[in-house]
Amino acid sequence: MPFASGLSPLPTSFGSERSSDSATLHIDRIACTGHGLCAALLPEQVSLDEWGYPVVHAQEVDADLGRTAVRLCPVAALRLGVR
Ligand code: SF4
Repeated sequence: MPFASGLSPLPTSFGSERSSDSATLHIDRIACTGHGLCAALLPEQVSLDEWGYPVVHAQEVDADLGRTAVRLCPVAALRLGVR
């Protein structure tokens, strides 16, 4: 339906939502030494098993947080696939 006043419709959000894209998190299980940093950074997607190694519950992560985890992993065992 066109606006009678000729004004553009207001946006439904005013920047309160995250505009970050998502990415998929992959762990090289051979390289991983179980430091647990990825689980600390991404607690909703990654937990640690009884030996301290990561278990990924949801591969889709916030791309910014995923990039941070990749950068901080001490053994470069994390990789992101951008969606
Ligand atoms: S931060 Fe790296 S080394 Fe530590 S648990 Fe995660 S993948 Fe493994």
